[in-house]
Amino acid sequence: MTAYGERTVSLATKHAKEQAIARPFRFALGLEVLVPAGLDTDALGTFTGEIPREGTPLEICERKARLGMKITKLPFGLANEGSFGPHPFIPFIPAGVELMTFVDDERGFVLTESFICEKTNYGHCEARNIDELADWLPQAGFPTHALIVRTNRNGPGKPIAKGVTTAADLKAAMAEATARSDDGVAWVETDMRAHLNPTRMRSIRRLAFKLARRLATPCPSCSAPGWGQTVTTSGLPCSWCGTPTQMVRHEIFGCTVCDHREERSRRDGLQNAPPQNCPLCNP
Ligand SMILES: [Zn+2]
Ligand SMILES: [Zn+2]
Repeated sequence: MTAYGERTVSLATKHAKEQAIARPFRFALGLEVLVPAGLDTDALGTFTGEIPREGTPLEICERKARLGMKITKLPFGLANEGSFGPHPFIPFIPAGVELMTFVDDERGFVLTESFICEKTNYGHCEARNIDELADWLPQAGFPTHALIVRTNRNGPGKPIAKGVTTAADLKAAMAEATARSDDGVAWVETDMRAHLNPTRMRSIRRLAFKLARRLATPCPSCSAPGWGQTVTTSGLPCSWCGTPTQMVRHEIFGCTVCDHREERSRRDGLQNAPPQNCPLCNP
């Protein structure tokens, strides 16, 4: 039995994320997921922007997990937080970053795993009518993925309609948004809430497996759950001149509870950096 076998963890969600998260945690850990009733995660700010969210996604994610623990009175809590925007490394490509945080108040640790999703329908389109949206709608995954319609004047305004999944609702929301916007333009964007976005739900499932597998890995020293990579160190030497480069040299593995650390070589076995990454050979 794992450290969490036959125990229950609270999952703070209003968007049916248990559909993606319950199975990985049951499968890897024997840990059952419970969604607290009457949870108001909007108190932490809304995903669609009506109430601004305060703090970093990481802080919000832990706060959300603790909100569920408070309601369920469970010592274990889970929450997920996604943010979408331009890809952190590749320009002009949209990407999502999903975080998933597990709080263990019995052992006193908080563990977060992340996942950069390159496959996302995230995007928006400015349009005067439904015909101008024709090329963009398949890209947005409509109608299996929902949309949000806003006025466009002075940037995206308050949502006129959220969770739009039918052509009739889209047409009606477009008519209202263009009429209310001084420039006659509607701002239409992808609704990224998990229950309305199957692509995002799949990313959350992958991340849930990643976090559950990590929690199933015990520390080699104290056997606490959650042993895994914490940070990396740079300085992989150049293959021509040996100068340390910015490339990862070691992966540091650590425990969630004790001070045990292990320095490991790169998983790909690379011992030297290509000279084009060298500050001396290729300045
Ligand atoms: Zn340990
Ligand atoms: Zn060099």
